[in-house]
Amino acid sequence: MEHVDGPAQAKEYADTALGLMQQHEVPVTPINFEVWYTYASGRDPELNEAIDLLVSNGQPFTQEQNGAIAQQFVRAADTSEAVHEASLKIEESVNTVLGFLSEANDGATSYGEALESNLGEMANAENLESLRRAVETLVSDTKGMAAQNSLLQGRLEESSNEIHTLRVHLESVQKEAMTDALTGIANRKFFDTSLRQEAMAAIEGNGELCLLLGDIDHFKRFNDTYGHQVGDQVLKLVGMILKECATGSATAARYGGEEFAIVLPQSDLIEAESLAETVRTTVASKRIRKRSTGEDFGNITMSIGIALFRRGEPVTDLIQRADQSLYHAKNAGRNRVATERELESTPAA
Ligand code: GH3
Ligand code: MG
Ligand code: MG
Repeated sequence: MEHVDGPAQAKEYADTALGLMQQHEVPVTPINFEVWYTYASGRDPELNEAIDLLVSNGQPFTQEQNGAIAQQFVRAADTSEAVHEASLKIEESVNTVLGFLSEANDGATSYGEALESNLGEMANAENLESLRRAVETLVSDTKGMAAQNSLLQGRLEESSNEIHTLRVHLESVQKEAMTDALTGIANRKFFDTSLRQEAMAAIEGNGELCLLLGDIDHFKRFNDTYGHQVGDQVLKLVGMILKECATGSATAARYGGEEFAIVLPQSDLIEAESLAETVRTTVASKRIRKRSTGEDFGNITMSIGIALFRRGEPVTDLIQRADQSLYHAKNAGRNRVATERELESTPAA
């Protein structure tokens, strides 16, 4: 989403951003500037939290660090840029094919029409998914045409290969845009999409759906004691455990800073609770060690809240109940699992 600030406001944010970048020795590149401008505006509290944390921990803003922040927080813009670029390239390819066709015989008319309509779809594609679908159709149309018309075959195959390469590229952009850079599991954006899709599927297929929300216990204290970098290793470890535990149609995602989620279709509260217990005990059983020295940082624990989807409710209600269950688990002493059933018997504090 693009915000437009008034000129005076924009100048103030820009000045603050440049001042801070100088103070923290951050190179002034467009992407870094975007990060710090957003920081100065305060409109992304998670970005500010992440930067404040680095500053308070005395972490240097290395090239790698700047890249990671940009990737995590201003990635959405990158993605739409990539969609735009890819669609331009594809359009070019299609226009080349259309050029060949105008020289060829009438047999190609219907293919030409299909391409035209495809172009229209791509011009209107708002996201990677719709663009990917349009490319998919394009590839199969082109292949079909190539098979029919031997005159055009050579040139069409070339174009088809080119489009194929673009499609592979698009897929990797799409995958990257849905992945959390630190842990390598699904990110919040993917989580949102997947939860909505599974809710629809549960309504249509009359199935059950559970949501697990987990939060690392006393993680601030852990970070303060052992440093942010060790904290990051812990997040990676937890991400890995979740991914291993979330088998089949379940989706594990990083929900936010130190919060994780599992979307669990076709399961009731009892099955979800059993999965959550597996996650909880696996996390608690790992000892955190510094790789270089073998120093032992003890272990960490996680609390998990679970809610069961009620057909027809907005997914935000489901998330809210999972969150309330999570806080119930925290209040009950942490390192435990609570389901929404517990909310009914003992109202949360
Ligand atoms: P609670 O048991 O109530 O959840 O306590 P907590 O300390 O875990 O909760 P709080 O929300 O106060 O602190 C969350 C901490 O998570 C704050 C921040 O230091 C840490 N955190 C969030 N994102 C990251 C990250 O990407 N890396 C690291 N290392 N720490 C993070
Ligand atoms: Mg938290
Ligand atoms: Mg926590």
